[in-house]
Amino acid sequence: MPSDRLLVAFGDELFNYDFGPYHPLNRSRTDVFVRRLMELKARAPEKIELTEPAMATEEEISLFHTKEYIEFVKLACSPGSKIRYLDYGDTPAYPNCFVRASTVVGTTLKLLREIASGRTLRAFNPVGGLHHARRNSAGGFCIFNDAAIAIEYALRRIRYKAVAYVDIDAHHGDGVYYDFEDDPRVIFFDIHQDGRTLYPGTGFEHERGKGEALGRKMNAPLPPYSGDEEFLRALERGLKFLDQFEFDIVFFQAGADGLAGDPLTNLMYSRRAHESAARALLELAERKCDGRILAFGGGGYNPINVGEAWSAVVEVLAGV
Ligand SMILES: [Zn+2]
Repeated sequence: MPSDRLLVAFGDELFNYDFGPYHPLNRSRTDVFVRRLMELKARAPEKIELTEPAMATEEEISLFHTKEYIEFVKLACSPGSKIRYLDYGDTPAYPNCFVRASTVVGTTLKLLREIASGRTLRAFNPVGGLHHARRNSAGGFCIFNDAAIAIEYALRRIRYKAVAYVDIDAHHGDGVYYDFEDDPRVIFFDIHQDGRTLYPGTGFEHERGKGEALGRKMNAPLPPYSGDEEFLRALERGLKFLDQFEFDIVFFQAGADGLAGDPLTNLMYSRRAHESAARALLELAERKCDGRILAFGGGGYNPINVGEAWSAVVEVLAGV
């Protein structure tokens, strides 16, 4: 019997996935969350188990990324490299970024294996959910797309028949959507700020999958300044959509950058959005796939909001 607890990845090797103090994705954005997590763990030690980060192998990373792109990242972060950015200016290259990005991936895969083996049902990688990296490129602070690699791993290694990927980050999960657009085994639902007003400029209502996967993806863009009410209405539509399908695990990208006061977006959610989504997805996972759910922290650039949103997810998934 899997024990009734939430596994949370925790450790400096993981929290050090950052781009320096002057970049929105910096080390201090997780400080408030870490304090909240420690309080929750002190309150209910048996319900939250911390687990150390792990590093992915190149072979695991190549389940999703091309060999050429992996070599490019290695080269860009090697000593003496003159490459300053891994993309067009959002995602800087720096010494060690290959190791740090590989650690995010390895940690996500470690949690996925724990779930697949039945040792736990629910897990959270706060630094995971790097949903903008594509098979052959970096994007939007994301070097390797751990969520997409986890999807490939779940389908090819664990041999799950289908997976659900639900993304409530303020930005569209383009690296998951486009790279699985025609794959019917990936059920996709994404609530985000309208692409006409925010990076990466994608994720429109008419984008519903392609070929055999047509109708198995749903994008729910919200206008700028949407709050909890608009979010909850979109969530309800998404839950009806997800309910039509069968899948073996729920992946949940719980980006915190939709909360009011994020420096990069214009959404106005409160922690209630994350609490409601976590509760609904946990219930969905219990109904559809024996309760298997792997959550990711995703984006979030206001430390107080990150603390609020992610601790809401931990509270619900751990039952604290
Ligand atoms: Zn984001």
